[in-house]
Amino acid sequence: MASTPSHPPEAGPAWRIAGFRYYPLRFYYNRHFGRPVWKVSIDASFGCPNRDGTLGTLGCVFCDPAAFSPSRRFAAEPLARQIDRGLERIRRRRPDINRAIAYFQPGTNTYAPVARLRAVYEEALAHPAVVGLAVGTRPDCLGDDVLDLLADVSRRTWLGVEIGLQSIHDRSLAWMRRGHGYNAFVDAVRRGHARGLRLGAHVILGLPGETRDDMLATADALVELGIASVKLHQLYAVRDTPLAQAVAAGEVRLLDLDEFVACAVEFLEHLGPDCVIDRLLGDAPAEYLIGPDWCRDKPRALAAIENELARRDTWQGRSRATGSAGA
Ligand code: SF4
Repeated sequence: MASTPSHPPEAGPAWRIAGFRYYPLRFYYNRHFGRPVWKVSIDASFGCPNRDGTLGTLGCVFCDPAAFSPSRRFAAEPLARQIDRGLERIRRRRPDINRAIAYFQPGTNTYAPVARLRAVYEEALAHPAVVGLAVGTRPDCLGDDVLDLLADVSRRTWLGVEIGLQSIHDRSLAWMRRGHGYNAFVDAVRRGHARGLRLGAHVILGLPGETRDDMLATADALVELGIASVKLHQLYAVRDTPLAQAVAAGEVRLLDLDEFVACAVEFLEHLGPDCVIDRLLGDAPAEYLIGPDWCRDKPRALAAIENELARRDTWQGRSRATGSAGA
């Protein structure tokens, strides 16, 4: 999906020389594994402290796990069956894909006793097509015992830990009802990096009250912390969530496509060139989505980002390279 500059540079990061304007996950996988690899979402039925009453019962304002993850929309099945099904779906479009990263996506996938976590991770790794794990979690569910387990897993296979951050600004985290502050993320990252873990962050652009500079400050902070990958989302509302109610009441305005594209392009410019972009925008099934309407056409939205990168003749890390990061 990445655009090709008219004149790819002869020097610079490999992804630029290959003609990309940002460092896409597929390019990283191809180089790391020497073959195409796909992420397959799986659901091990982990809960979330923001829903089970530990921190709250309502969850984050935007969250509906079934809307956000394809694996939670299907009845719980053994992990091997989920992986097989996921690969079958992918092969309808990409018959060449026969290796997978098992992606523990819905819920908080480090929120269980270490013995159970170990058993579940090993179950996924036992699938012959699985070449690594991606584990999605919250920053406050990464205790030292869990990090020790993840470090042990990472010594034997590829492992990416994806931490839901969304924003470095505590007022935004409070508005989202995340139940943790930015300091929890910084603490988890420092302890994770001390164990050599590959850590990624999920970020939302377009949060109410966040200015352009606020969003770019999040990008700059991720660079300072040495975050290895970023998954970008636009703020979008799915049915039966507090966010959907706030949008319907006119209390929250969602970015239009042009606004999101401008934010995403500048965000990419502020990231470092070594940060892998797991995803540029999120999507939800049509029957769940309340808005913005442009989310219904993901290819068009991705093309709009590509086109804007090309129109500006810019690329990931450019602000940092030219010394204007943080401006
Ligand atoms: S932490 Fe994740 S799973 Fe839990 S309520 Fe928030 S978005 Fe949903």
